[in-house]
Amino acid sequence: LHDKFEAEHALAPVTLDGEQMSLLLNAGLDLSTEQMTAHYCDGVGLYRTESWFMQKGQFPTQSEQEKWYREVLSRYHPDPVVMRTLDIGGDKVLEYFDIQEENPFLGWRGIRVSLDHPEIFLDQIKAMIKANVGLGNLRIMLPMVSHTDEIDEALQLIEQAYFELQEEWADPFLLVDKPEVGVMLEVPSSVFLLKDWAVKVDFCSVGSNDLTQYLLAVDRNNTQVAELFDPYHPSVLRVLNQVANTCQDVELPFSLCGELGGEPEGAILLMAMGYRRLSMNILSLNKVKWVLRRLRVKDMETLLTECLAQSSVKQVHRLLRSFMIKHG
Ligand code: PEP
Ligand code: MG
Repeated sequence: LHDKFEAEHALAPVTLDGEQMSLLLNAGLDLSTEQMTAHYCDGVGLYRTESWFMQKGQFPTQSEQEKWYREVLSRYHPDPVVMRTLDIGGDKVLEYFDIQEENPFLGWRGIRVSLDHPEIFLDQIKAMIKANVGLGNLRIMLPMVSHTDEIDEALQLIEQAYFELQEEWADPFLLVDKPEVGVMLEVPSSVFLLKDWAVKVDFCSVGSNDLTQYLLAVDRNNTQVAELFDPYHPSVLRVLNQVANTCQDVELPFSLCGELGGEPEGAILLMAMGYRRLSMNILSLNKVKWVLRRLRVKDMETLLTECLAQSSVKQVHRLLRSFMIKHG
């Protein structure tokens, strides 16, 4: 089965009626396979920088980080690489940074940690900006944002990092582009503030794993309630659809980088909603491409309309199953 998908890896992900989807890679875990397949995708839609921090015994220095980020940016250049700032807390722990909480997923996570430790955040941003000199394919993304103030504070710190670097270099001729900055939409409050945030940031990307967890109040890693964790829940689908509509209204570039985009049924529904950039793990890339190349957006839209009208997740799955059977 894998060979079947592999055979078309070099072809573009275009539907039968000519609509193109950009497929990007979720990276940060396995550098060797990621290197091999660098040319299969249109860039990196999510680089999980914390994966590397998790393998270390202590916080990496700014110059260690710079070296590492430069290696990643060069590997995919000139395609864009969306680097997410440190997203620790919740299920992602650093053995050298102790966080003890009763509800880690509702606690000190992602941007919250970075803003409470500006020295860690500034180091990371400076390393990214330095690594981007002469390349220019860096995008910065902020995880777990739930308040507008967090964006304002983070943007201010990024500005400060940029300013301090210019002073450090003291070379007026060394013009360095400011990278685009985006936010992850993974906390429900973000969806309702999207219009306000559109004037502050350059892009957004839905983290459907956490968004599903927080919308449905189901721990994404708890096997006891695993059956309730379902991104095809009608509420999740309606929220994803609302995000696409709002972003199109305010002309904010949007994408999705949760696991849902790497599932054929998920990619189909998202394409029907208007998503044209999906970021996924390496094993999903060829499969999703293979499926999209055999469908028409018109049929996907009909399916989406039916799915959005359901109130039960079981009915959504029934519709998806019969669609997949009907279209081979
Ligand atoms: C998500 O939450 O959907 C996401 C992409 O981020 P992570 O899985 O790293 O939390
Ligand atoms: Mg997340």
